[in-house]
Amino acid sequence: MGRIRILPDQVANKIAAGEVVERPASVVKELLENSLDAGATDLRVEVEAGGRRLIRIADDGGGMLRDDALLAFERHATSKLRDVKDLLSIATLGFRGEALPSIASVSRLLLETRSQEETTGTRIEIAGGRMLRCEEAALGGGTVITVRDLFYNVPARRKFLRTEQTELAHVASLVTHYSLAHPAKTFLLTSGAAELLHVTPVATLKERVYQVFGSQMLDDLVELGVRERTLRLRPATAAESAPGGPSAAPFGQEPDEPASRTFRLSGFVSRPQVQKGNRNSIFVFVNGRLIRDRLMLHALSSAYYNLIPPSSYPFALLFLECDAEEVDVNVHPSKTEVRFRHGPVVHDFVRDTIRERLIESRPAPAFTPAARPVPEGAPPGGQPAAGLPYSEFSQALANQEPAAWGASVAEEPRSAGLTGSTPQPDAAEIMESAPEFSLRPPAAPAPRLDFTAPPLEVTPGPAPSGKLRRHLDAHGEFPAEAVPPPEMSLSVLSELRPLGQIHESFIVAAGRDGLWIVDQHVAHERVLFEQVMKQRAAGRVEMQRLLMPLIVQLTSEQQIDYARIADELHASGFETEPFGQRTIAVKAAPAAIGAANVERILFEILETVEGEPPGASLDDLRRSICASIACRAAIKINTRLDAGKMEWLLRALAATDCPMSCPHGRPIAMHYSTREILKAFHRM
Ligand code: ADP
Ligand code: MG
Repeated sequence: MGRIRILPDQVANKIAAGEVVERPASVVKELLENSLDAGATDLRVEVEAGGRRLIRIADDGGGMLRDDALLAFERHATSKLRDVKDLLSIATLGFRGEALPSIASVSRLLLETRSQEETTGTRIEIAGGRMLRCEEAALGGGTVITVRDLFYNVPARRKFLRTEQTELAHVASLVTHYSLAHPAKTFLLTSGAAELLHVTPVATLKERVYQVFGSQMLDDLVELGVRERTLRLRPATAAESAPGGPSAAPFGQEPDEPASRTFRLSGFVSRPQVQKGNRNSIFVFVNGRLIRDRLMLHALSSAYYNLIPPSSYPFALLFLECDAEEVDVNVHPSKTEVRFRHGPVVHDFVRDTIRERLIESRPAPAFTPAARPVPEGAPPGGQPAAGLPYSEFSQALANQEPAAWGASVAEEPRSAGLTGSTPQPDAAEIMESAPEFSLRPPAAPAPRLDFTAPPLEVTPGPAPSGKLRRHLDAHGEFPAEAVPPPEMSLSVLSELRPLGQIHESFIVAAGRDGLWIVDQHVAHERVLFEQVMKQRAAGRVEMQRLLMPLIVQLTSEQQIDYARIADELHASGFETEPFGQRTIAVKAAPAAIGAANVERILFEILETVEGEPPGASLDDLRRSICASIACRAAIKINTRLDAGKMEWLLRALAATDCPMSCPHGRPIAMHYSTREILKAFHRM
């Protein structure tokens, strides 16, 4: 007799539960998804002891017919899928028919449901997968599922649960984010007697964000709007063709496939001053499904590359919509992973959209210094993108077509010529003297700090400066309405009057709304970085010929990395050629860097690309090369600047796309608003 046996359903369900039900929040997720699939508009979630003792979800959806209610607990019983063809275009959140039997096998479950088509409802009780009761009951329309004592019969799993608070936090986060995905629905979450979330229907995502997080949070966020990208799948017909449009993609499409596919992205992302220590504030929905997807995470961190430090993460709420055929959701039993048919297209679309919006919104720097400093000696672009190393990401990439991977971010010079037209200070000249760390008077007679003049004359509304001065003179109360609102636009940087330097490293400047402190090195770095990026995008990087070729010796690893990026190096202004075994000759280098720095920068760049897979984004590579050049060429700290140079730097900074953070994500400027100054002096 053979040794192989088919496992009884009860065992199979318990095995499935191992994958589907990890913790109370996974139960909440499955049940919420069922309610949403049932068309519910009012979803009420109740938990006790972080969901360990009780989870109850009540909805006003379509409910179940009596026969269906019984069937729902069979393995692979679903109303959402008929044949294998349907698997390619799943429009519902559920489809595997596994959740209810799995949950019922590891808890005490009570189902109460009534379909609109039946006059009485059904009550079913199951414990550890065994049916205890099934009866007719007088019930309202919709479904209530109560799950008690999760894992009561699987002690090993129960042990793995975290504290009630932690489990509750997971549940709360999940309900919150599903509520964000469905602004038109009511969500209520209670824990014991405490109401943790209660949101009523609103028309827009923005209003829902306001309901959930409040106005403070909205200030920190940039709304993406609805952005689209269309992918052509087969050659455009004469009518469809547009000059310059992408050519047909040979992706083995069926003849009856549509000519193109459209991807749509919306949501919110945080301004760069919001820096989180982990990925817990990143929520990605693909066709309404909450997922954890490496490709999307990587696209997001690429968008923030050069804007926030590599070790920090943004807040993000992203909704990607596309044809169901474009995304395979049947990748993991918990349905939290997906596979995109055209991954690189999705990746670049998401990255470009977020980056463009961040740049468009030109957010102001936070008054408070940014959370975590990056050490001065940190290698420029030392990590490819915020937090997700390529090694981790390469796995995800392995299955994707690399076709569009290298497509670059649209580097349209938004403020063309702004850095080019102003006279550049001679960096070498500025760097010549690097005196001791000390506080010195400004190198040129700086304008007096004058509170009454420019800062207040631009005050909107009825706030004549004379009145304000009188208030100040009398040491009296300062009328709150007379204080200009905190200036959010960085265009004010161009109007700043430099007052001097602190430690010959930080420029102190007065503006129409208070005081600014600008880190001169990172400010200049940002200016040069954008300048080099623009030159690079236009294919016109300024080069300088070296008097004598510089011979550089490479290790064998460096040799491989060098071969891989030689073209990009060349396009960035390094003219190099092989010169015998593991040796290269550098004949020209970017004009921005001194000849003495060439070798160091080359090694720095090679170190940056070390270990990246060949498919790594060309865009990231380009950015880190430009960041290396900018860092080396920028004026250093401990460098005395005269008033003219300080002014030039502030104007050049104001003209950049991202004046708030340096290419490595460090903050550039701190702002102390008039309001804050007044508050500090108890004048308001
Ligand atoms: P799936 O969601 O993958 O179909 P489930 O085990 O989660 O599998 O649910 C099984 C079936 O039970 C669903 O297909 C649906 O028909 C029904 N069902 C579950 N929850 C609800 C609900 N809240 N309202 C109406 N029907 C439900
Ligand atoms: Mg389901």
